[in-house]
Amino acid sequence: MKALKLKMMAFLMVATMTTFGLAQDTELPNVKILATGGTIAGSASSATSGSYSAGQVGIQTMINAVPGIKEIADVSGEQVSNVGSQDMTVEIWLKLANRINELLASNEIDGIVITHGTDTQEETAYFLSLVVKSDKPVVTTGSMRSSTSISAEGPLNLYNAVAIAADPQAKEKGVMVSLNDQIHAARDVSKMNTTNVNSFQSPIKGMLGGVFYGRLGFFREPLTKFGNTSEFSVEGINELPRVDIVYAYADMSPDLIDMHVKAGAKGIVIAGVGNGNMTEATLNAAKKAYEDHGVIIVRSTRAATGWTLRDNEFKDDDYHTVVSGDLNPAKARILLMLALTKEKSLAELQDIFDEY
Ligand code: ASP
Repeated sequence: MKALKLKMMAFLMVATMTTFGLAQDTELPNVKILATGGTIAGSASSATSGSYSAGQVGIQTMINAVPGIKEIADVSGEQVSNVGSQDMTVEIWLKLANRINELLASNEIDGIVITHGTDTQEETAYFLSLVVKSDKPVVTTGSMRSSTSISAEGPLNLYNAVAIAADPQAKEKGVMVSLNDQIHAARDVSKMNTTNVNSFQSPIKGMLGGVFYGRLGFFREPLTKFGNTSEFSVEGINELPRVDIVYAYADMSPDLIDMHVKAGAKGIVIAGVGNGNMTEATLNAAKKAYEDHGVIIVRSTRAATGWTLRDNEFKDDDYHTVVSGDLNPAKARILLMLALTKEKSLAELQDIFDEY
């Protein structure tokens, strides 16, 4: 009799835990996948052909192609665009950022994955890292091989990205980029190779963490401002000021600067030689662009890695130039576009480049 009573009590306790606690523990995290296109959604007429069309496959087909994905998260998909990322636009960035902020403000969503072409993935990820206002994980992913290719790596990349977005360890890391079993900080990562599956690397600061069939770990924290500590947001913004990039080379002509000013650029990033250098004539044209038109010139570098530092071979103040630190030209352009949505002095702009 006593044993029966104990058994009943144990049963009631388990039933209560299941209703009020334990059942929640077995609930899967909710991850939303926002698809934008790219090679991960690309298809070719042959599994061994390097020629394919990006942005062909819809998000539901992509989810269905990933074995086990529904066991690690409650996933649902939304098609935001379906373009090769060479055709990514500010308009799609703003749409994505607003949708992510809306989704993450809800208790229903624990994390976001964005599928994206690899060509400009680092730009989208960095832009989002500056304007997404949430500590929940946001992960971009893609693939170097199309969905119909032999050894397509897209499904495993998507599986891993969902695992990261579903994991509380990945909170407060800013926007992450994950391909090829690696997790990178949006700010630090670059596409380093045109075709290799190991294309994404963070050459200066190294990767943030690793992921192996959904098991993940982090090695370091992101080091600059992002998310809630970023002063930038997309609220009330429908477009961004025009910022162009000018690539420097031996015997570069200064009229390139004049052409961009004439076309309406409010800022110009120089992909300079070495430590952000350009011909003396171009430097003088840059000085004039600021003095006559208020165009902000940021010196970055065409070198694959390294810092662009102030006052290296001349005084930046003499030419009104700002330096990008270790931000590459494409990311320096994004930071400048956002910075130009506010009134800033040259010194304040330099502070922004030092902090973000
Ligand atoms: N051109 C493609 C894109 O960026 C390349 C890729 O996704 O790997 O959309």
